[in-house]
Amino acid sequence: MFDEAILHLKDDMVRALCANLRLQSDAQPPEEGMPNGPGAARALEHALRTAEQIGFATKNVDGYAGWAEYGQGSEMIAVLGHLDVVPAGDGWILPPYAGMIEDGRVYGRGALDNKGPVFSALYGLKAIMDSGLPLSRRIRVIFGTSEENASFADMAYYATKEDLPVAGFTPDADFPVIYAEKGILHVHFSCAFSGLEDSAVALESLKAGNAINMVPDKAEAVLSVGGSQVRLESEGRSAHGSTPHLGKNACFPLLSLLSRQDLPLAMQDAFSFLTHVLTHETAGANLGIELSDEPSGALSVNLGLLEGDGASIKGGLDIRYPVTDSKDRVLSILESRFAKEGFAIDGISHQPPLYVPKDGDLVRTLMGVFKDKTGLTCEPVSTGGGTYARSMPNILAFGPVFPGDPYLMHQPDEYIEIDRLILLCQIYAGAMYELAR
Ligand SMILES: [Zn+2]
Repeated sequence: MFDEAILHLKDDMVRALCANLRLQSDAQPPEEGMPNGPGAARALEHALRTAEQIGFATKNVDGYAGWAEYGQGSEMIAVLGHLDVVPAGDGWILPPYAGMIEDGRVYGRGALDNKGPVFSALYGLKAIMDSGLPLSRRIRVIFGTSEENASFADMAYYATKEDLPVAGFTPDADFPVIYAEKGILHVHFSCAFSGLEDSAVALESLKAGNAINMVPDKAEAVLSVGGSQVRLESEGRSAHGSTPHLGKNACFPLLSLLSRQDLPLAMQDAFSFLTHVLTHETAGANLGIELSDEPSGALSVNLGLLEGDGASIKGGLDIRYPVTDSKDRVLSILESRFAKEGFAIDGISHQPPLYVPKDGDLVRTLMGVFKDKTGLTCEPVSTGGGTYARSMPNILAFGPVFPGDPYLMHQPDEYIEIDRLILLCQIYAGAMYELAR
């Protein structure tokens, strides 16, 4: 319906995107009125200025977020995107903050994650406005500024000041629609030793992993054996903590090896226990938390952090549990399992699951538009990952990455194809209209 009109908006949309890509909006220290630093503040101001010039009502929500809005009605539909980016990192051939066009692609940090999709939604909304078609709900494009640090503090602040949507989407993950995101439970555990007997082998140090949500690709331990130091090293393959089965945890062979050394008995027992419950599979079976459900599949466990010395062992588990289950159930099983072996749970952090039934209005509307615009037939998906959709009620992740696309987010030479930008604009315009009409 808006497809033809959107073709005429192409040049303006690409120009606006390139200008925003030139504003380096990676993590920077906060300043007065700029809770996420001057870079994110400038990117936010630019997006709001662009929206205002197009003809939308806009608001800067105290530097945390902003919005552009069209239409009337007590209910509101929202598209939630973010203007902060991850640091450029190494390995770029093209400059990361030049907003350059090459071979029909717009290059720059944030081109795909998430500035390109944000501007495609903004210009999609312009096509809706230009059509003059009646709407029964307002449509708001919301600009966030703290997605990449995973704090979602921008949307927490927004929720204290502003209207919340009755439905909407975030263009910040995968197509078609993500209707289920597992609960994320991070558990820190430890085991302290005291009064250990003399032994042939002693543990001097143990270290693996830099982030709880990654599979460690290196693990090392230093033992003292008869007065001399022996270093044990193990290598694996990294993967995201939500998909531990795709990696090879470097801790596993090391734990197994440590459980067979002539360490003090209590330490041997602790390593045997960890080897038994963690190293044979990643679905939590030996921990007693092998839960699964139809919407989201099996629970996963990643041992992301491990460290120790002669006095204690500590570790961190990244658990992704099924959407129809609860944190309390997982935690109570873990607590008793660990307590029995002399381990303590020292702390947790938690993000509840997100789940919207597949046959509900929101999923059906978004799937319908996706099929209509792309001709692709596929099913809505579930994930163990956490998307921006969790930061606001009634929002689901919807694109921008198509099945089979190369993985470009957070990579050097991030880009978005201009043809793809147009298609996104057409899909998002269609979706906004269907939800708001
Ligand atoms: Zn993103």
